[in-house]
Amino acid sequence: MAIFPQTNRTWQIIDHARQHGYAVGGYCVYNTDGVMAVIRAAERKRSPAIIQLFPWTLHFQGPHFVRYVAAAAHAASVPISLHLDHCIQASDIELALGLPFDSIMIDGPGSSGDLEESIKSCGHIVQRGKEAGILIEAELGRVDGVEDGVDVKHAVAGRLTRPEDAKVFVQATGVQLLAPSFGNVHGPYGAGGAEKVLQFDRLESIASAVGPSAPLVLHGTHEIPDELVLKAIKCGVRKVNLNKSVRQKYGQFMSDNAGKMELTKSKQTAVDLYAQEVGELMDFLGSTGRASK
Ligand SMILES: [Zn+2]
Repeated sequence: MAIFPQTNRTWQIIDHARQHGYAVGGYCVYNTDGVMAVIRAAERKRSPAIIQLFPWTLHFQGPHFVRYVAAAAHAASVPISLHLDHCIQASDIELALGLPFDSIMIDGPGSSGDLEESIKSCGHIVQRGKEAGILIEAELGRVDGVEDGVDVKHAVAGRLTRPEDAKVFVQATGVQLLAPSFGNVHGPYGAGGAEKVLQFDRLESIASAVGPSAPLVLHGTHEIPDELVLKAIKCGVRKVNLNKSVRQKYGQFMSDNAGKMELTKSKQTAVDLYAQEVGELMDFLGSTGRASK
């Protein structure tokens, strides 16, 4: 009989990707249009998918909305899991552990730079997750963002994930997904772009140091050129977080047509455009046609 994490939906999705050398999108959504778009794209493309919410949703739309998303995702004809991205506050983690999330990303344990402290705080949450049947993704090092007000050209030195730390961290905490910092940032990459700062030799070393027990997650993808995302997948990234890049056509259509069409018509067209864009990303990541359900 399968035991945790093999029984966990996010694990099953990621582990299949690991075994077959492709990546699955973690699609950040904010409303029902996004939920429907990801599910429709996944069913059309016969692709697994991960729907991601932010703690913002826990508060703005509340636990009932989370239950709706989980029910819709889990009822799909292909494997789709529900993930909470960047959960920072202890009270949000508590709330999320009682909701039907398949996985939660906890933010921050790596940010203090103290490995022992990170192991202690993350290990406790991993244990709580295990009891609730929820997988935990953790960041080690620090994936900086423009919201931190830091100049990315100088930001990341000293905060990049060290492969030896990653190995100790994964073994000691049992965390099942690792978001490493190898030069990636949430926000503008500055002069020279992502090419200049991404350290793929570091990413490769981290992947081989942690092995199959903690597949890697790529954050900060918005400005990373396609060929470098594919290079990261070759290095062992199995979950690629996608936020702004998944809904550009949707946003454009909504701003052009709000108030000019019947809401039923504009919603249908908007969700269809959104689903097309998500489907293109499934083709790109190699998850199209991989649904095993
Ligand atoms: Zn992120």
